[in-house]
Amino acid sequence: EGVGAGSGGTRFDLEKETELRFEVEAGEKVHLELLTGLAEVFGSELNRNKKYTFGPGSKIAVFTWQGCSVSLSGKTEVAYISKDTPMLLYLNAHTALEQMRRQAERDNERGPRVMVVGPTDVGKSTVCRLLLSYAVRLGRRPTLVELDVGQSGVSVPGTMSALCIERPADVEEGYSVQAPLVYHFGSTTPGTNIKLYNKLTSCLAEVFSLRCEENRKASVGGCIINTCGWVKGSGYQALVHCASAFQVDVVLVLDQERLYNELKRDLPHFVRVVLLPKSGGVVERSKDCRRVSRDEKIREYFYGFRSVSFFPHAFDVRFSDVRIYKIGAPSIPDSCLPLGMSQDDTQLKLVPVTPGRDLTHHVLSVSCADEGEEGAGGLRRGVLESPVCGFIVVTNVDTQAQVMTVLSPAPRPLPRHTLLIMDIRFIDLK
Ligand code: ATP
Repeated sequence: EGVGAGSGGTRFDLEKETELRFEVEAGEKVHLELLTGLAEVFGSELNRNKKYTFGPGSKIAVFTWQGCSVSLSGKTEVAYISKDTPMLLYLNAHTALEQMRRQAERDNERGPRVMVVGPTDVGKSTVCRLLLSYAVRLGRRPTLVELDVGQSGVSVPGTMSALCIERPADVEEGYSVQAPLVYHFGSTTPGTNIKLYNKLTSCLAEVFSLRCEENRKASVGGCIINTCGWVKGSGYQALVHCASAFQVDVVLVLDQERLYNELKRDLPHFVRVVLLPKSGGVVERSKDCRRVSRDEKIREYFYGFRSVSFFPHAFDVRFSDVRIYKIGAPSIPDSCLPLGMSQDDTQLKLVPVTPGRDLTHHVLSVSCADEGEEGAGGLRRGVLESPVCGFIVVTNVDTQAQVMTVLSPAPRPLPRHTLLIMDIRFIDLK
């Protein structure tokens, strides 16, 4: 450890089944190079003599099954080798899932549907990524279902999505996101509108099942569902709902015995519930840290990564050319509800929004919903259940001129005119 490695880096020699963990300091970059042996980052293999760059705040583990040496250069907050990792247990989980896929192939059945659950900061997303990468490396085509509306690995925050995985995640940039199926949720915690959250979970399950009927590889590949860290009360109920909507076969519970026992008790007996330890390397992230990474995700959507830059467009949109909605009316006391209406209806109601200055900086989803059909009372069917085709940010509102300026990935005009407002704001500092 800590021996100079030419090109100004520090060399680390790793024995088999150990990992090098490091964090990149704020405002810094770190370069990683594999010098000898074989190694992987969250299931994606490293190439020899290629420089990988990690940005500020990255928390990385370089794991080796066979032993390797790597070099690190740049400012790390911490960098140490750990021999104590749960990787063998994670690999066993993968092996069991692969057996289920083989059996599915043989018996013309469907492959495993797996839900990964646990409190915040136990490495749920990392375990999902690992299982997906290992599966895809064996030629499988698993689907990632991303239900973590706070920290989505697929799309901007405030969305729920599904993505067919065709190659291991990129070591530096994560999943290459081609044509994910994305739904608008609108906020970073399921608790803001749990009815909508559950409804969208069901939508995703339905679409996934339809795809499995048409596509044998997708069916055999199964899915890995990443969930939110909210595991109590309605958050717990949402997990139970998800298990039933997707008809999951396996639940991997990270780190929490209580949650494991509750799920064992509440899920049908044929669901295999497995408790797995969390990795000591998983770093707790502060509220601020989460906000920064959400912001980064939105910035990436508009501006791209280091390797691929996008050039977003700014243009004016006339109020009269779009319809802006918020999903969910503020809840009112039961006694005030119109006859025959329940609180559920208010949570799933499309509420027209009159654009005002307070719309500035909000992220809006552009809905793919059919434009024509407008029902009675402005309550349009299909919008909630329709995926979104993209996002824009309102950068300015001129109420006098009745126009707003937006930041958009594509030039004008907007592809669709139904916009859904998110609680999430993005300030474009360029
Ligand atoms: P959330 O609470 O957002 O749902 P989570 O449980 O999904 O979080 P992850 O996002 O998987 O947790 O992991 C949290 C952070 O820890 C990530 O930045 C990840 O890169 C890092 N991390 C995970 N495993 C390791 C490890 N073995 N060594 C170092 N860092 C790790």
